[in-house]
Amino acid sequence: MRKRLIVSAASALSLFLAVPASAADFQPGAPGVGDSYYPTYGNGGYDVSHYDIRLKYQPATDELEGTTTILATATQDLSRFNLDFALNVSEVRVNGRIATFATSGEQELEITPARPLAKGSQATVVVRYKGVPSTVKKYGFTAWLRTPDGAVAAGEPESAWWWFPSNDHPSDKATFDVSVLVPDGNQVISNGVLAGTSSQAGWTRYSWRENKPQATYLATLAVGKFDVTRDTTPSGLPIYNAYSKDLGDNADAARSSVERTGELVDWLSGYLGEYPFSSIGGYVPNVPTGYALETQTRIFYSPRQFARGSNASVVVHELAHQWYGDSVSLNRWSDIWLNEGFARYAQFLWSEHENEGTAQELADYVYSSHPADDPFWTIKPGDPGPDNQFSSAVYERGAVAVHALRNAVGDEKFFRILKGWPTERRYGNGTIPEFQAYAERISGQPLGDVLNTWLFTASKPAVGPVAPGTAVAASLAPGADAGRLPAEPKSWKKIQETNSVHEGER
Ligand SMILES: [Zn+2]
Repeated sequence: MRKRLIVSAASALSLFLAVPASAADFQPGAPGVGDSYYPTYGNGGYDVSHYDIRLKYQPATDELEGTTTILATATQDLSRFNLDFALNVSEVRVNGRIATFATSGEQELEITPARPLAKGSQATVVVRYKGVPSTVKKYGFTAWLRTPDGAVAAGEPESAWWWFPSNDHPSDKATFDVSVLVPDGNQVISNGVLAGTSSQAGWTRYSWRENKPQATYLATLAVGKFDVTRDTTPSGLPIYNAYSKDLGDNADAARSSVERTGELVDWLSGYLGEYPFSSIGGYVPNVPTGYALETQTRIFYSPRQFARGSNASVVVHELAHQWYGDSVSLNRWSDIWLNEGFARYAQFLWSEHENEGTAQELADYVYSSHPADDPFWTIKPGDPGPDNQFSSAVYERGAVAVHALRNAVGDEKFFRILKGWPTERRYGNGTIPEFQAYAERISGQPLGDVLNTWLFTASKPAVGPVAPGTAVAASLAPGADAGRLPAEPKSWKKIQETNSVHEGER
């Protein structure tokens, strides 16, 4: 009892000490999280644990009204803090009290709470807003995609600004509730599990819940008219897929690809470990874009991904991101290789599984088909720069880098690393140096040389990704001429079709 009293007294004392002598001790949070590629993205001074997004959307007019409640913890004494957002805000409350707010830059919403926030304290931030998202352009574009019967939010790195205020950076992950009211006859697709629907007075509310940490760019929303398929994998994972009713010639190819989600997620689990989330599926809205995006548990596919027939390979790519990108997220955008190199490599493994070319053959082909003077080699997958973040070199050379790592450590250790990293870092974040340290720990060998060669050198490596114990093939040797290119692997074209992934949002 006495001990407890002492503890209480100490707690009271620390609370007292947390209140500063004057408001001057409280500083504004930084307007960016400090990402060198996107200096204004994200914000400093707080950490979000949950987003509760309640929307009303009218597909006919693209009018969106919303109230988002953010649960956050101050990581410094805050006089003011920013959110990233693009729509018009009508009211902000912090811990129940009306807060003043202003906008600045392209997407900064500056909030000054009535009472400053002490470091370590929790805050509830309620933002009311409305707008017509398709008409709101930031940096010259909108990530809000209109469809004939509704709209879709799916983009990387920008997507959230047009439908909910956030700390928009993958280093700050949170759980999500997304609840959207739409006119009867429309459906709402979002991340996680459909927790319920209810109808009243001509409007239906769909409530979705993602109960595992999710980066803001991985939150997705679609409103429209969909054919929905629901199932469970043999291992019991719920599957929820949705297809626009007006996909035309692409409808069957889309279904015959995306309906394999359960099979493919189970197959990938063998390489990447237990699937990290409580639901999976994809949706194919009628959008004119050409990319797919690994939106958490509910993958976004453009119909054009299936314009040349079914493509299980793109499904493998986006599913692999559920481990590499979604469960283990980037801490900074420059480490995009940790997402795309591994998602592309999963396609190499699928090609191998389908007898359409081994990973070695694919790596050889990438190496040989780009001559030394090809600008392809000037892009460093380990730090490509914001303009080349989604360049094909990040994917292709990035996957060759993964294969070079495999050759360096051998299959047994490589597959332990491939499965171990997303297992050890589950629901967290990671950087390339942290990955390297992990791979060195598991393999027991230094990997700086191989990773520097394939990730951080702006020229063609002198020798290709040679398999251990084999001679350097003529096509991989220095000075090999293009006339000796290895045969194109059978899977090559399907893998290439994934290159429109992430393109088009600008
Ligand atoms: Zn990808």
